Amino acid sequence: MITSFHPPIRTLMGPGPSDVSPRVLEAMARPTIGHLDPEFVRMMDEIKELLKKAFKTENELTMPVSAPGSAGMEACFVNLVEPGDKVIVCQNGVFGGRMKENVERAGGEAVMVMDAWGSAVSLDKVAAAFDAHPDAAILAFVHAETSTGVSSDAKALCALAQERGALTIVDAVTSLGGTELRVDEWGIDAIYSGTQKCLSCAPGISPISLSAKAVDKVKNRTASVQSWFLDTNLVMGYWGGEGKRAYHHTAPVNALYALHESLVILHEEGIEKSWQRHAFHHQALKAGLEAMGIGFLVDEANRLPQLNSVIIPEGVDDAKVRSTLLSEYGLEIGAGLGDLAGKVWRIGLMGSSANRRNVTLCLSALESTLLGMGASVKAGKALQAAEQVYLQAS
Ligand SMILES: *Cc1c(COP(=O)(O)O)cnc(C)c1O
Repeated sequence: MITSFHPPIRTLMGPGPSDVSPRVLEAMARPTIGHLDPEFVRMMDEIKELLKKAFKTENELTMPVSAPGSAGMEACFVNLVEPGDKVIVCQNGVFGGRMKENVERAGGEAVMVMDAWGSAVSLDKVAAAFDAHPDAAILAFVHAETSTGVSSDAKALCALAQERGALTIVDAVTSLGGTELRVDEWGIDAIYSGTQKCLSCAPGISPISLSAKAVDKVKNRTASVQSWFLDTNLVMGYWGGEGKRAYHHTAPVNALYALHESLVILHEEGIEKSWQRHAFHHQALKAGLEAMGIGFLVDEANRLPQLNSVIIPEGVDDAKVRSTLLSEYGLEIGAGLGDLAGKVWRIGLMGSSANRRNVTLCLSALESTLLGMGASVKAGKALQAAEQVYLQAS
């Protein structure tokens, strides 16, 4: 007989979802009310305010799309890309490839700028692409590439796009809350994120924000947006304006309670403090892994603190290590994707997962598991090295 589902207790240190705090889970369990209830509308307004602070923007069109990060991505592309638009798309991992798909399905022409998996987007290559295609309307890139653990220079890329008169679409699914991100200061025109990475909320919602310039482009389209659900002109009847809201779709009421709570938690800590916390625990994890003899895929300068791609030691059975961590320690880490499958592990330190307990658990569980399989890693050094980082800070 099928009965209630009770998930096992896990520690989530993969590429997302990250650990969801008990406060957020408790918020989700509160009573469902109507999605047009004045009290719910008040909470929606608070979500928009809190999202503006998290994105560091004054953009009026800042709201959560009722679907995961991929839908936020699609919302930005279907609204901004008009048939015939040329879009420079930077690809240095999995998610740039999805951007290309989105451009083409929206009737645009994707001009690809390719960089190796594990490298940051090359500014020189993007400048050359603009030289070759001065009519490019949009530049699209991934700020934090979760498939490799690489950070690209969003500030410089946006400055370049502005010089060339192009709008920008930025994937901040993994960067929001985890690393420095300034939408207005950097001049980002369209940005999307997700709830399950550094916001440490349940998966399924995608915050987005569009600049006034981006909204102008959407309003002046000649062809209507081909997606009814994601057309911001229509969605804003529900999310926009002061107080007065019209039915567009039924909002995921309890999922939005969770987002509200996770944003309250973020702002209690402070967004800059959150960036610092991710960097700090990354330093401790890195010290421990390196003491064990495990190296990183990405150059130190372009490494994301919240997503650590580390090289799997020679001769080690990738899948067996991950399944042992899961079954014996309740610890989830991520596998490599594409060409990196079997070559790297992706260890996430996202949102509330970025803490001392998780770093210590990960280092000791990984060390014990690897030693138990006869891998040649240095024994007894990792925790001491991580402790050293923590002691220096206290
Ligand atoms: C996770 C992720 C996405 C997709 O988000 P989903 O919520 O899985 O749809 C997009 N871009 C990046 C960089 C991501 O890490």
